[in-house]
Amino acid sequence: MKKQFAVIGLGRFGSSVCKELYRMGHEVLAIDTNEDKVNEFVSSSTHAVIADATDEKVLKNLGLRNFEHVVVAIGDNIQSSILCTLLLKELEVPQVWVKAQNTYHHKVLDKIGADRIIHPEYDMGIRIAQHLTSEKIIDYIELSSEYSIVELIATNKIANQSIIALDIRAKYGCTILAIKRGEEMNISPYPDDVIEQNDILIVIGHKNDLKRFEDDGL
Ligand code: ADP
Repeated sequence: MKKQFAVIGLGRFGSSVCKELYRMGHEVLAIDTNEDKVNEFVSSSTHAVIADATDEKVLKNLGLRNFEHVVVAIGDNIQSSILCTLLLKELEVPQVWVKAQNTYHHKVLDKIGADRIIHPEYDMGIRIAQHLTSEKIIDYIELSSEYSIVELIATNKIANQSIIALDIRAKYGCTILAIKRGEEMNISPYPDDVIEQNDILIVIGHKNDLKRFEDDGL
């Protein structure tokens, strides 16, 4: 389904969010105060406008209150990022996702109602560390300080066995959410679905349990 997004701030982070959303076929309004940046986005967004997103009138005129999702990717200017987020929440935008610069910025964003606070460098650092230290982990999403979702490669050790026979939930406390086989994606697999070598398992669980499964189960 096509969704409407606005991306405010077209630095490195905002520009990759904007381009990817547009590439996926969504409607994207790209906003920046910098004319050159905006011109760059004429062909990678639905509309690209030069505007100051800390001005309430500007946000109203651009119709931002009708957007379901707005990404605030104003980088170094923490004051502008906070003011813009506050205005968007006052306009009752349901989902305001904001890039944070540091923990103080994060705290304020949290208080004023940002729906998701993103630390791209921190998050990417964790993912890269996970990739670096494990041959079996393909991707890693941190859900909280305790829980994660990982993509793991099914080894020969568990190949040709059903999920029920492997008893992963009882033995390791982890749940297989999906199995990817080539281009095919088996969402919510059945207990008697059989795993093949090199399948990609998407598994949710406590970090310690996932580590145990990765080390001992695979
Ligand atoms: P990154 O670290 O993701 O590269 P930057 O700090 O380089 O982030 O980029 C932030 C972008 O936000 C810049 O292009 C800047 O022009 C834009 N920006 C800053 N303040 C505002 C504002 N008030 N309204 C709209 N865009 C803004």
